[in-house]
Amino acid sequence: MGEYSKAIVSTTTRDGRQVYLSGVAKPPQPGLDEALSSVLASLSNHSYSELNGDRVVLEARKMLESQGFKVESLEIYVSHRCPMCGASINITPETVIYVCPYCGWTGDVYGHSLAFKVWPAPPREAVEEAARRLGGVLDNATLYYVPFWVFRVNVTGEYTGTAVYTVQRTERVPVRRNRETEWVTVVRTETRTKKVAGKIRFETLKGAFGRLYAEIFGAGELKSWVEHSWQTNPPKEMDPPELKKYAENFLSAEVSDEEALGLLRKEIDTEIYREIETSAARQVEGALTEVQIEYLSTQVNTPEKHLVYVPYWFFTYKVKGNLYAGSLVGPTATIIRAERYISNAERVAKMMSAWVAVLVTGAFTEFALRYDVGWGFLVIPLGLLGAYKLASSAFEAAEVV
Ligand SMILES: [Zn+2]
Repeated sequence: MGEYSKAIVSTTTRDGRQVYLSGVAKPPQPGLDEALSSVLASLSNHSYSELNGDRVVLEARKMLESQGFKVESLEIYVSHRCPMCGASINITPETVIYVCPYCGWTGDVYGHSLAFKVWPAPPREAVEEAARRLGGVLDNATLYYVPFWVFRVNVTGEYTGTAVYTVQRTERVPVRRNRETEWVTVVRTETRTKKVAGKIRFETLKGAFGRLYAEIFGAGELKSWVEHSWQTNPPKEMDPPELKKYAENFLSAEVSDEEALGLLRKEIDTEIYREIETSAARQVEGALTEVQIEYLSTQVNTPEKHLVYVPYWFFTYKVKGNLYAGSLVGPTATIIRAERYISNAERVAKMMSAWVAVLVTGAFTEFALRYDVGWGFLVIPLGLLGAYKLASSAFEAAEVV
């Protein structure tokens, strides 16, 4: 007998997750291994999150004590079980989809396998080349495969509302000046309203980041890259042996397809509103200001849904002893975001243009005062803001491109 009693059982939780439950109890006692094993098996009527809590340990302890065991310490561990090779896999509680690092199986935490598509990763040499293009030498580079949900979205619907729009009328108005009457052209802008109605129908492609926290340098650019590349250079399916090679680089998806669609809802709503505006603008003879929607019925269908993994290199590079960060994606090794070194010459150029902006602002102010131009007051803050921006960027260590 060892220093403790231990048991491990393979089971399925109440919410359908395939797990290994292991328990370690002290001190070791005759028959405790077997008792612990059956206690662990009976715990599978709990959900996955309950199993990760402390109450389960108390419950197991009571069960053992009711069978006459004296338990000083008890610990219970939950780990995932690969449905293909049976390996015990450690994943974060947030994970919903993962790649088995042992056999390359891919699927959700409930054991359903799921095929996903992958863009091939550019080699490390491409990252070295990117660092050179940015004027430096590669320092460090890590490859990640980042999960994205991609949906083809079909929207149909109809609306009614009130369009608010403006029309311009030109009038000739008499003005008395030096005892003479002059006719002056006056443009009047009138706001009008009109009842509008119409049908909307459009298709769009949307990508949603598959992680809960956007801990990615250039997350916004990455999303645009995915939505664009899906159309021009679509990804392909990768078979398990190849997946296995890169399994360590795959970030588990923490957002399910339904959650991803929920995250995209706002973007889709924005596009719906834009369609309504386009439709309403065709129904009025002036410039549309807004549409007050009175009735809207829409149907959002997603005929296509894919999980795709995007190869993403995060790297640092050195220029004159300073470190800068960058990121590049996809088979084409596109730099989506990078800090860029600013040379002293560039810094001086920025300072100079800052002074020019100040001088120009000054000249305009004088002009505005002398000739009583109404908009003169606008130039001063704009000019100063421009000068401030240029001058402050000259002092930044790097700029982001
Ligand atoms: Zn496996």
